[in-house]
Amino acid sequence: MDLLDTLTAKGLRGETPTREEALAVLATTDDELLDVVAAAGRVRRRWFGRRVKLNYLVNLKSGLCPEDCSYCSQRLGSKAEILKYTWLKPGQAAEAAKAGVSGGAKRVCLVASGRGPTDRDIDRVTDTVAAIKEADPAVEICACLGLLSDNQAERLKAAGVDAYNHNLNTSEGTYGDIATTHTYADRVDTVQKAHGAGLSACSGLIAGMGESDEDLVDVVFALRELGSDSVPVNFLIPFEGTPLAKEWNLSPQRCLRILAMVRFVNPDTEVRIAGGREVHLRSMQPLGLHLANSIFLGDYLTSEGQAGQADLDMIRDAGFEIEGMGEGTLPRHRADIAADTAAGAVGGCGTGSGHAGAAQAGGAQAGGCGTGGGCGPCGGHGHAAETRPASEAVTGTAPAAPAADEGADEARTDLVRVRRRGAGTELAPNA
Ligand code: SF4
Repeated sequence: MDLLDTLTAKGLRGETPTREEALAVLATTDDELLDVVAAAGRVRRRWFGRRVKLNYLVNLKSGLCPEDCSYCSQRLGSKAEILKYTWLKPGQAAEAAKAGVSGGAKRVCLVASGRGPTDRDIDRVTDTVAAIKEADPAVEICACLGLLSDNQAERLKAAGVDAYNHNLNTSEGTYGDIATTHTYADRVDTVQKAHGAGLSACSGLIAGMGESDEDLVDVVFALRELGSDSVPVNFLIPFEGTPLAKEWNLSPQRCLRILAMVRFVNPDTEVRIAGGREVHLRSMQPLGLHLANSIFLGDYLTSEGQAGQADLDMIRDAGFEIEGMGEGTLPRHRADIAADTAAGAVGGCGTGSGHAGAAQAGGAQAGGCGTGGGCGPCGGHGHAAETRPASEAVTGTAPAAPAADEGADEARTDLVRVRRRGAGTELAPNA
């Protein structure tokens, strides 16, 4: 049985492949790309049909962060010309959220830059959640506020928050290369706090920071072990003014291989194409929908995405459907686990569509609390270049060391647009 048959069979059973098999996916060639997408697409449809979940970001507080995540346009010392503002008022945030929900989003992701929330910040978010739920009780809410202290996750849960996003971003082995003001262990601790409080854990990664294939596989397996209900996959947006502004090393083909690997390792988990979708996948975005079952509608935290209507048209043209507010996101067995976790934690119902306690879905953001480019990240570090043989991988033989992506982007800075509308501005949001 060749590699793709093995991976598909395991994925259809909800099983996790071996690390070697995951590495082999990343080592496949461009000639094999459509075979890889077709195989992972079967796994995607097994657990998520042709539904695409829409999530909408609301940047509650932008820039001015004391942390030094090297990928982030909001980081300490960033010279990126991004919007900088302090906390939105609950009414302002609810207005922004309404645009996303009326655009088709079923989850609103509330994000604030910073190391972590104070108890006063939790009060603010509590008021914001109330304002949003008053307008639309069925909407799911994810919070992404950075490192959590004791009892803060429980307070967010009690306030009606359904999920918490805190990405691991990269492997434990290279975490120190992308941030020094907090640790990988700090991140794992926050994800576990959120999960323990009955919040749906949303935790993902940033690809394109010069990491090796082994690093990518490491972080994706770590996310599987953490039990993340949703995995945002960010593709680095190298923001001018950040340490990784020159780090252009992704190609649409590489991004699709990474999404396929994430799907195979997390067959029954919400996989989301997050920040960098437009910049790096470009015209290949529809192929990404065969691998991921979730995207962000509209703009990212500090950069602009394509028009909301373009997202909706793309989904329909590619033969997919927008996941409805009343539909669960996670497959039944995962939703039940999530509901039990939520109920066990606070005796409440699990999250899910319309709070039916059924479905859980993931959350949002890269970085401590935010994302560089969008929900995502900004920046990466040195790129390991090696060479690889063609096509052995697909026949199941262990791949040689992966090669730098020949098709890697030249610096497509023309595609990076700093957000100048929506939250924190007088201009209408993109939704
Ligand atoms: S990712 Fe979050 S914590 Fe890190 S620098 Fe950006 S805003 Fe700050």
